[in-house]
Amino acid sequence: MVYYKVKTDNMSEEDTSLIPTYAARALTSSISKYEIPTGEMPPQVAYNLIRDELALDGNSRLNLATFVTTWMEPEARQLMADTFDKNMIDKDEYPQTAEIELRCVNILARLWNTPAQAEATGCSTIGSSEAAMLGGMALKWKWRKRRQAQGKPADRPNLVMGINVQVCWEKFCRYWEVEPRFVPLEGNRFHIDPDAAMQLVDENTIGVIGILGSTFDGSYEPIAALNDALETLNAQTGWEVPIHVDAASGGFIAPFLEPDLMWDFRLPWVKSINTSGHKYGLVYPGVGWIIWRDRDELPEELIFHCNYLGGDLPNFALNFSRPGNQVVAQYYNFLRLGREGYRKIQQACRDTALFLSSQIAEIGPFELLTDGGELPVFAWKLKDEVAVETCYTLFDLADKLRERGWLVPAYTMPKNREDLVVQRVVVKEGFSRDMANLLVEDIRRAVEFFRSQPAYQGKPMGSHFHH
Ligand SMILES: *Cc1c(COP(=O)(O)O)cnc(C)c1O
Repeated sequence: MVYYKVKTDNMSEEDTSLIPTYAARALTSSISKYEIPTGEMPPQVAYNLIRDELALDGNSRLNLATFVTTWMEPEARQLMADTFDKNMIDKDEYPQTAEIELRCVNILARLWNTPAQAEATGCSTIGSSEAAMLGGMALKWKWRKRRQAQGKPADRPNLVMGINVQVCWEKFCRYWEVEPRFVPLEGNRFHIDPDAAMQLVDENTIGVIGILGSTFDGSYEPIAALNDALETLNAQTGWEVPIHVDAASGGFIAPFLEPDLMWDFRLPWVKSINTSGHKYGLVYPGVGWIIWRDRDELPEELIFHCNYLGGDLPNFALNFSRPGNQVVAQYYNFLRLGREGYRKIQQACRDTALFLSSQIAEIGPFELLTDGGELPVFAWKLKDEVAVETCYTLFDLADKLRERGWLVPAYTMPKNREDLVVQRVVVKEGFSRDMANLLVEDIRRAVEFFRSQPAYQGKPMGSHFHH
């Protein structure tokens, strides 16, 4: 049993050291929540208070909604704890952390087949969202320079992308005043279509976004076909509309599982790529990366040089101070796992995703949209005939699974297919085959439960459950 020393006015330290943990004063009265408390409390009491409160959060290991890393090995955790004090921006004070960032940039540039003569240009960020802002700005600045050089107006930029983009691209457009042009979904096509995208491209298009792969269903967008379509269009028109690939997840999957898939710098119009180190890069949040094809894809005006930390430090980022330890952990993974280690982990995730999707398809009422054969991510819907006749929706199933601790989100697809409700699983490192079996059993049990309800057939009562 653990005892804490709580020093109060009318007790000696010997007395208070015998108070059992949860009988201590700070743990038997309520605490100040929205105002800073007047006095101090012992560190272990504060620790217990906060840890206990956080037990109400979902269990991250049962969180099949997130793409973000929820497990790292003990050595990686130790290394991260050892380097909590590193500030990524202090490149002069922490030159080895800066060197490690540079190594990661080079490793990623080569994993993504940067041209041999190119100078690896890129940086770490807090995640793919910041990387998207930086990538989008580089597109906008490059486009404006081209327009100005031609003596043409440069005040109405637009960006072309599938409606299935992650919200960071909508943010980019709003924050940086770029008109978003969305390629709508069509029937059972749940991501961009190159021909439909080309219809939206004009002289004011700063770039086209290709996603590897889509957040909604884990499918890869056809980046090579986008490249070919732009090759033709640019040749016909004299425009130079480039591609930025949002490889938040796929940037760490395709190089290991599909080395021959053409989606990266081997395609001439792919000028920049972002990824999330904290997704399939296998690092705890938050770290992301952006790499440009070559030095001149990143306009010099966007880079700031400051000297007040000592030395001349080129910097392109939205943040200033930022943790350095996630970058250290990224390098740990590269060194520890190598190509083969990453391949094994991603293959295991894909195998589990394929296994799980086939099991879920076998239960009966569900139809797969994707099976986890691209990103280890798949989505399913209720079969049309089941959706019509039964009392439950996938929202109800998500709620029911939550009773067991599983977080398996249900959501509607974007515009044009908002009628379609899907449920999605993201398989990550740390999710074993055994856990997959347990989840299938729980889904089966939930379906049985819904079937046993009196209103199962005929009267839809999905709306009785909160959406
Ligand atoms: C997760 C994700 C993002 C945002 O990434 P963060 O690292 O969470 O900022 C952007 N695009 C896609 C395709 C994603 O899956």
